[in-house]
Amino acid sequence: MIYDVVIIGAGAAGLMCAAQAGYTGKRVLVLDHANKAGKKILMSGGGRCNFTNLGTTPQHFYSSNPYFCISALKRYRPEHFVELVERHGVEYVEKTPGQLFCATSAKEIVRTLLTECEWAGVEISLSTKISRVEQQGDAMQLTTSIGKIDAGVVVVASGGLSIPTMGATGFGYELARQFGLEVFETRPGLVPFTLSDTWKARAAELSGLSVPVAVSAEGRHRFVDPMLFTHRGLSGPAMLQVSSVWQPGKPITIDLLPEENVAESLREARQATPKRQLSTWLTERFPKRLAQALLEWYPDHDPARPLAQYANQALDEWAGRLNTWQLKPAGTEGWRTAEVTMGGVNTDQLSSKTFEVKGLPQLRFIGEVLDVTGELGGYNFQWAWASGVACGQSC
Ligand code: FAD
Repeated sequence: MIYDVVIIGAGAAGLMCAAQAGYTGKRVLVLDHANKAGKKILMSGGGRCNFTNLGTTPQHFYSSNPYFCISALKRYRPEHFVELVERHGVEYVEKTPGQLFCATSAKEIVRTLLTECEWAGVEISLSTKISRVEQQGDAMQLTTSIGKIDAGVVVVASGGLSIPTMGATGFGYELARQFGLEVFETRPGLVPFTLSDTWKARAAELSGLSVPVAVSAEGRHRFVDPMLFTHRGLSGPAMLQVSSVWQPGKPITIDLLPEENVAESLREARQATPKRQLSTWLTERFPKRLAQALLEWYPDHDPARPLAQYANQALDEWAGRLNTWQLKPAGTEGWRTAEVTMGGVNTDQLSSKTFEVKGLPQLRFIGEVLDVTGELGGYNFQWAWASGVACGQSC
């Protein structure tokens, strides 16, 4: 079998790349070991796929080379993908500003991509195992469960390590190393935190409760989003965001009242309503369960004591607990639930225009397998589309 372009991975980046390469007249084959294309797309965004973010900029991505993503993101923008889904009749909604989700189901995005591939004459072979990829002169040869395949160009779009049950493997990293490329250490990103014994039990008691917070790690990267208590620890958009920059063993700082300077507010309340109790002040600001829990967590408190009897130091302690709560996660839930992979193939060794390996244009890497990871909010798919288009059009 001979193809101009063979793409490994029928996920977001691979399918997008395949359609683009097919439209340029190339003979294109997509291989995937999974029995279904776009499995991660199907489970994304709670089954509704947050397929882009209208506010995408290179600043929304983590990478050792922050300049690498600029070119592709500039050339294929969120509006281009919106135009594509509109052309395919996909209805969508803007949930939080800029974040676009399918109105009905993520299946619509997979349908769109597969239709594009069909129109572009792309062949897709699922449930196909790839055992070897070798350079053969100016071309590449793949040994697979459907036989040997010769390819002018091999594009690796095998994604990252998150959710192994959905088909994620370290295939792309192994292949990169085989061809002498550097692979930065990988770790789970956009992943819930686990807590240790006491805090785990406390979080479990509040499981299912969501509150708006601001959270930061290492004093940087402040994220203002909801936080969710879970049976294992903390989740919700705020925690997923900060998990990508969190260093194991270090604390995170949670501001439970990001809109309010608690030290000032409590002093004002003591002045204006000296007979009011702290518990009343807390229940005006938090869901009852959390207000109650806070009082139990810090039992240096007599519920009957009026605010007038609180010294400045006691108010400042409460301000610290509420505005700068330092909490050390035990860890994260890991690859099992992570949405993305931090780290990956070093982009310094690739062209940011074509995604080809410098000195080996027959081999290319796109999508999440690269050391480019977006924040939460549709940025990761926008990277998959943009890198897929840039590579596919230049194959
Ligand atoms: P993938 O889409 O993961 O595709 C890789 C493909 O390669 C897969 O089909 C896989 O089967 C195949 N493959 C792997 N190994 C091999 C092998 N050895 N041989 C053959 N084939 C192989 N991002 C957003 O922007 N918005 C969201 O709403 C969102 N929600 C998410 C929810 C969840 C639960 C998860 C896990 C991720 C979510 N993401 C979201 C992230 C997003 O899904 C990924 O960033 C994106 O899918 C990456 O695209 P990709 O093509 O590089 O990799």
